[in-house]
Amino acid sequence: MAAEGDGHLEAIRIRGPDGTESVENVDACFVFIGAVPRTDWLAGVVARDDRGFILAGLDAKNDGWPLQRDPFPLETSVPGVLVAGDVRARSIKRVASAVGEGSMAVSLIHQYLAEA
Ligand SMILES: Cc1cc2nc3c(=O)[nH]c(=O)nc-3n(C[C@H](O)[C@H](O)[C@H](O)COP(=O)(O)OP(=O)(O)OC[C@H]3O[C@@H](n4cnc5c(N)ncnc54)[C@H](O)[C@@H]3O)c2cc1C
Repeated sequence: MAAEGDGHLEAIRIRGPDGTESVENVDACFVFIGAVPRTDWLAGVVARDDRGFILAGLDAKNDGWPLQRDPFPLETSVPGVLVAGDVRARSIKRVASAVGEGSMAVSLIHQYLAEA
């Protein structure tokens, strides 16, 4: 990939997954990298979607969930193990939602412990 322009950004040169290059005329560029979940180490531990994001709540229910009750909203396929933030499947991928889910997790773990 390359950025091209004379004094300011005018185009970016992109190489696609198949190796072909294209040039797009743009005047701004937002770099959005770092969205890979990196959960390989959890394979076989908690249920994940096909991209590696961790399933929670009702999404986790049909993937080895062992209890009669439904999983709590942030609960993974393992009872009492919760997930918050970007790594959760279908999460919003924003700071505010990650922080909010973290605070939800505290409340939900108290609920889990009260019912255990
Ligand atoms: C380029 C970019 C721009 C963005 N801009 C915005 C924006 O403008 N506004 C906004 O609201 N959101 C933005 N986001 C999204 C925002 O950064 C995320 O939604 C937020 O950081 C998610 O928080 P998190 O705690 O879930 O995950 P992260 O912030 O990714 O934190 C996860 C942490 O876990 C660590 N980790 C990973 N694996 C392990 C392991 N095995 N052991 C120990 N630690 C581990 C990582 O190193 C990382 O520090 C942007 C994201 C990117 C990539």
